[in-house]
Amino acid sequence: MNVRGSAAARGGADAGPGGGGLVAFVGAGPGDPGLLTARALELIALADVILYDRLIPREALAGARADAELRYVGKQGGGPFVPQEETEALMLERARSGALVVRLKGGDPFVFGRGGEEALALRAAGIAFEVVPGITAGIAAAGYAGIPVTHRGLASAVALVTAHEDPEKNEGALDWAALAAFPGTLVFYMGVRTLPSLTARLIAAGRPAAQPAAVVSHGTLPVQRTLLGTLETIAAAAADAGMQAPAITVIGDVAALHGELAWRVAGPLAGMTVAVTRARAQASSLAAALRALGADVIEAPAIRIVARADELPALERFDLICLTSANGVELLFERLEARGEDARALAGTLVAAIGPGTARALRARGVIADIVPERFVAEGLIEALTGVDFSNVLIARAAGARDVLPDALRERGASVEIVSLYETVVEPLDPAVLPAIAEADYLTFTSSSTVRNFLASARPGVDTRIVSIGPVTSATLREHGLNVDVEATRHDIDGLLEAIVADRAGEGGGA
Ligand code: SAH
Repeated sequence: MNVRGSAAARGGADAGPGGGGLVAFVGAGPGDPGLLTARALELIALADVILYDRLIPREALAGARADAELRYVGKQGGGPFVPQEETEALMLERARSGALVVRLKGGDPFVFGRGGEEALALRAAGIAFEVVPGITAGIAAAGYAGIPVTHRGLASAVALVTAHEDPEKNEGALDWAALAAFPGTLVFYMGVRTLPSLTARLIAAGRPAAQPAAVVSHGTLPVQRTLLGTLETIAAAAADAGMQAPAITVIGDVAALHGELAWRVAGPLAGMTVAVTRARAQASSLAAALRALGADVIEAPAIRIVARADELPALERFDLICLTSANGVELLFERLEARGEDARALAGTLVAAIGPGTARALRARGVIADIVPERFVAEGLIEALTGVDFSNVLIARAAGARDVLPDALRERGASVEIVSLYETVVEPLDPAVLPAIAEADYLTFTSSSTVRNFLASARPGVDTRIVSIGPVTSATLREHGLNVDVEATRHDIDGLLEAIVADRAGEGGGA
């Protein structure tokens, strides 16, 4: 087991006599990755083993350790069916072998998640566990639809109810008379198919047919949909509208507040799925920006950044240092720190940065770049260096980068040294995301290496629009026989976002 992990994880856990391992029942929230708790993210990052269910946010596993064992143990839909006994046996086995096991469930682990049953099995086996509550779908989906489940004067109680997918099997399981008489909001967790029998039974048991009711599907996700009606009309309306699982149904006067309190404004990329091929470590800012615009993001990292051990020369020998990426900046400073130096090592030299991301990374380290070209490619930097005096240049960059910059500077008579601080290596794509990538509306490429490595294991879908950050990446795409549908005019992340939004608007966006 990861020692640091277990010590930190143990913080709040109830240690049992069962030996080394620990199981954390972690709620992953309703779907929006922003609704994962801080503790959930912390445990996901520490876990040796993650056993996850179907309705967890796709992004929840992004922060897992590269060597963690990730296992789908969902019950239905999509993936394979894993029987409950098998899941419990696996959990016990891994915990007994000393692992930190995260049992990751959608919403809250103790709300219709069988978390209680699994915790009883652990207690019986004497294995320690921790519970990390999550935001449950019934409250979160309602909230994202502008429905407060309690409201002064309208509802001072709320009941969370689940019913079997097969209405016939509900006989006896639920007390319909009690539910009909319940003095407050009813929130049902279940598929849309159950709605006709559910609403009919509530009306038959005396719940007013005219009471407001709302169905919220895919709550908190970019594709969330809300439908408002009455107890009498909602089932047929939901069927007509093609509302899909997962969905919750809110029955009570508060449902009508959706009309006044709906607050989510559809972003310009609402309904669009965008696949991001950047290295996982850098994808998050792009992914977050895309989500903020309403897109559903698929992280499909095609590359991984690996630091190289090339010797970093003494910096005072140079009068110009060129940095070509934020990665390069980070790794340069790591190297400087490793030999006891800091930003002052750059004090006597001109510092050139290709692109605002590189300049930002420098600023975060206390260095303001002297030269940032208007065009964020090597050619732009060469132009920007016209009239600048230098004779000894250090270029810190990725292994295998183009030679345009060193060649041009040598032509101008400078002595040029190159240090390769890192290389990008292929990150095999998770086979589970391949179908989603093929169906994406947009597929984004931020460098030639993402193009080459992505195409080593996947192909874009036929209807997917290919987005490139700039001409160099576009050329690589064309070399591989792909059409570039969208090319950013500003060759950075903001430029890429602008280009997608403009393309979407031009495509009859918002439809
Ligand atoms: N433990 C989970 C519930 C699991 S039961 C929680 O606390 O949320 C699964 C049911 O939850 C689904 O059938 C659906 O009714 C509801 N659900 C889960 N995610 C949802 C979402 N994003 N929007 C609406 N309902 C959701």
